[in-house]
Amino acid sequence: MNVNINWNFDNSYSKLPESFKENIKPVKVKNPELIILNKSLASDLDLDFSNINKIELSTLFAGNELPEDSNSIAQAYAGHQFGHFTMLGDGRAVLIGEHLSKNKERYDIQFKGSGKTAFSRNGDGRAALGPMLREYLISESMHYLNIPTTRSLAVVKTGEDVIREALLKGAILTRVASSHLRVGTFQYIAARNKKDELEILLDYVINRHFPKILSSKNKALELLKVVLEKQVDLVINWMRVGFIHGVMNTDNMSISGETIDYGPCAFMDSYDPKTVFSSIDKMGRYAYCNQPVITKWNLARFAESLIPLIDENQDKAVKAATEIINSFENKYEEKWLDMMRDKLGLAGKDEKDKFLFIDLLTWMHDKKMDYTNTFCHLMEDEIQKNKNYEDKDFKNWKLRWNERLKTNNNSSEKYLKLMKSVNPLVIPRNHKVEEALNAANQNDLKPFLKLLEILDNPYKKNKDAIEYQIPSAAKEKYQTFCGT
Ligand code: AMP
Ligand code: MG
Repeated sequence: MNVNINWNFDNSYSKLPESFKENIKPVKVKNPELIILNKSLASDLDLDFSNINKIELSTLFAGNELPEDSNSIAQAYAGHQFGHFTMLGDGRAVLIGEHLSKNKERYDIQFKGSGKTAFSRNGDGRAALGPMLREYLISESMHYLNIPTTRSLAVVKTGEDVIREALLKGAILTRVASSHLRVGTFQYIAARNKKDELEILLDYVINRHFPKILSSKNKALELLKVVLEKQVDLVINWMRVGFIHGVMNTDNMSISGETIDYGPCAFMDSYDPKTVFSSIDKMGRYAYCNQPVITKWNLARFAESLIPLIDENQDKAVKAATEIINSFENKYEEKWLDMMRDKLGLAGKDEKDKFLFIDLLTWMHDKKMDYTNTFCHLMEDEIQKNKNYEDKDFKNWKLRWNERLKTNNNSSEKYLKLMKSVNPLVIPRNHKVEEALNAANQNDLKPFLKLLEILDNPYKKNKDAIEYQIPSAAKEKYQTFCGT
């Protein structure tokens, strides 16, 4: 393509052995039309749209013409899907290249919904407009909630229908990630039983994401440690805001520690640890309270794939890896307590803190209180009047909390500042997301853009946000679908 928007590609992954990927171009689409472009992200990437018109942008972000220096591939990976191991790969995505920004940050640029690949199995390689806009919205919201995540740069309508439960409008999302390396990438290479390939992958990942551990004695073990840290931090962040990923298969867990693959995810409204939104998660495997457990389970699968690189003596390797995996609970608990201390504005540590937190959560659960808005109430930001706040148990709990707040040189200025930095005032409310997507499907993007704008600033008081803060009054349970 002649016009250049400043892509600066340096494609390292495509230079890896053949078995890691398939060289493939996005399948061209009939009538591409740009729906949304993320100018703020584009500017972080140092892209420049001054010499390009909308038709060219549509062509570009549909993959109908590839930028110079792109070297497009579909990546191979495997994964435990709901506990069952499967060989997978990008079945409907193409990595068009790795872009280097001016400060030499490396970003994967991937089209999702770009047609069949060698890994498509029975799928059509395509995506529908609703789910792609949903990923755009929720991933951007996660970013502004200060949670590591892949980003969304653009959505283009393809002008073609996709066949799902009904005929839907086709679309392509441009996803930006620090990489698309997954636990499943390691599982795929490990399953091929070629130690040299596994070593190549290990070195590649360390070079790209964790150069600090390059010179460590046991790189595989160190990698396991750092990935565990990243994943503990990530899941703590999800728990903090009530995010439920919905499909935490090992192919949807990134090595870099970014939230990836926004399918049936949604935010919890009234507090219930067993909350599940995904229609296919019948057993609640990926319920809110199971997310840390599953994170550990996935990390154990990651550890298994690294065994041949940890020690030639398999028993020794398993022992060393198990020790690291078993550090998960203590790390998680410690970080969870710290996260809750922040949410409640507490300074320092007290051994009774845990009971204070559990008692609050138990009360919220009993009274079906909105998770986000209860913390708003505690920050003296009343979203909705609720007689439960007059409840004796809650008042008693507040007395204990107030006592605890006074300790360790805290002040109301300090604790409110802390609470406001971690308790969002606004999250993507399920009914608001649906409303915005329904309108977008009817060619009205206004509600979607308004919601995006509101979600851009979730920690700041905004008078216009009030209707976005109130939970849905609907009685029926919200359900999400995988969106394939
Ligand atoms: P996901 O549940 O989105 O993480 O996808 C799991 C696997 O199914 C991945 O390998 C995807 O590439 C593949 N997949 C999902 N949807 C499609 C589709 N429409 N066509 C082909 N492959 C798909
Ligand atoms: Mg996936």
